[in-house]
Amino acid sequence: MCSSRGIKSRVHHNMDTQSGSHIFSIRAREILDSRATPTVEATVVLESGYRGTVSVPSGASVGKYEAVEIRDKDENRYHGLGVLTAIQNIHTSIAPHLRGKDVLNQYEIDKTMIDLDGTQNKSKLGANAVLAVSLSVCAAASQFSRIPLYRYINQMITSQFPITIKRIPIPLFNMINGGKHGAGNLNFQEFLVIPPSNSLFRDALIRGVETYKAIKQILEYRNAIHSLGDEGGFAPNLFTNEDALEILNEAVRSNNQQIGRDIFLGMDVAASHFKTEKGYSIKDRPTPYSTKEFISYFQNIYQKYRFLLLEDPIDEDDWAGWQEIIKELGNETLIVGDDLIASNYKRLEQAIRSKACGAVILKPNQIGTLSELLSTVTLAKKNDIKCIVSHRSGETNDTFIADLSVGIQSEYVKFGAPARGERVAKYNRLSQIEDEIVPV
Ligand code: PEP
Ligand code: MG
Repeated sequence: MCSSRGIKSRVHHNMDTQSGSHIFSIRAREILDSRATPTVEATVVLESGYRGTVSVPSGASVGKYEAVEIRDKDENRYHGLGVLTAIQNIHTSIAPHLRGKDVLNQYEIDKTMIDLDGTQNKSKLGANAVLAVSLSVCAAASQFSRIPLYRYINQMITSQFPITIKRIPIPLFNMINGGKHGAGNLNFQEFLVIPPSNSLFRDALIRGVETYKAIKQILEYRNAIHSLGDEGGFAPNLFTNEDALEILNEAVRSNNQQIGRDIFLGMDVAASHFKTEKGYSIKDRPTPYSTKEFISYFQNIYQKYRFLLLEDPIDEDDWAGWQEIIKELGNETLIVGDDLIASNYKRLEQAIRSKACGAVILKPNQIGTLSELLSTVTLAKKNDIKCIVSHRSGETNDTFIADLSVGIQSEYVKFGAPARGERVAKYNRLSQIEDEIVPV
């Protein structure tokens, strides 16, 4: 049974909540994501008429330990990728149990859905169905409370772990896309550019955009441009993965900036997705790397590029490998667990116990409810694990995760390149919030 430890208290406010915050109806519909794949959007309407509408994303490099989305598998419709079954689950299984419930009690609502589903990974109702409702409940509650969503989320988490809203998280811009996200030939999934941690968001955004444009010029000059990847970064054909880091280095220099001073680099290796029984197979060497050799490979390139963080450098099942890389590189760079943790409380607990990573990726659809995600956040914060709120490669224009990142004061956000509508929507929402909390 899944649990949502900790986040039990109702958000208190000074309005009369006699009935207006109770659920009147829940409707869901099939919409498209940025990859032309159907996804779920839900609207929760309250008795007072306030409402919340949120849609959910979908990953391509999906980890083994994630909650699962339900797809129709009807090959005659959207090649089997329709989500009418998930929508039906919302209308016929979830809505009747939630009608009349108070949205100010997120925990109770999420717990009802967790119990109704009854599986470890939301495979009965579908994480896409459950999450769309869970997040819409929160959005409706913030509307009812007449406070911005990021402040409402902040109140929820503060009931367990006090967090003061001070700043906008630093963006990790995904400039070059490989692996399962890029049509080019790179194995590593994301080559990230990171503004300095003391930047205001408005300055960080400028630095990101200037680097993005410089990368484009360099790729065009080298005739290496291939296409854009799923997250808006470039998807070039290059000889090695290290060449992508060199392109970023050149782009930064062409803007008269310096890596390690004006801008920093990072990578989401997404290693589980190219690991075979022979080892880590990448184009930088004809023979696969053993875990030990792969760690030495990262140590070598660290000497050149001083990357600030490394996400999923080791397979999601190789706990000993994670402990080893933390020992070898953990003082120099932040080792980040995405597929390793899957936003899951128990897996983060295990990672903390075995000292396997220093930061965690947080993706609401990896776990399926807001309450469970906030429990994972609380655990991370209590143990000095840095938090990175992340999009998925298949996104809609929904901006819930931008508010989430500010509400929980994650250190970083990972919303893709500063290009393509579904990525830019989230960055633009962060700009709006910064204007509210740090006026120009
Ligand atoms: C990731 O691995 O960090 C990611 C965003 O990819 P996806 O959404 O395809 O799992
Ligand atoms: Mg990842």
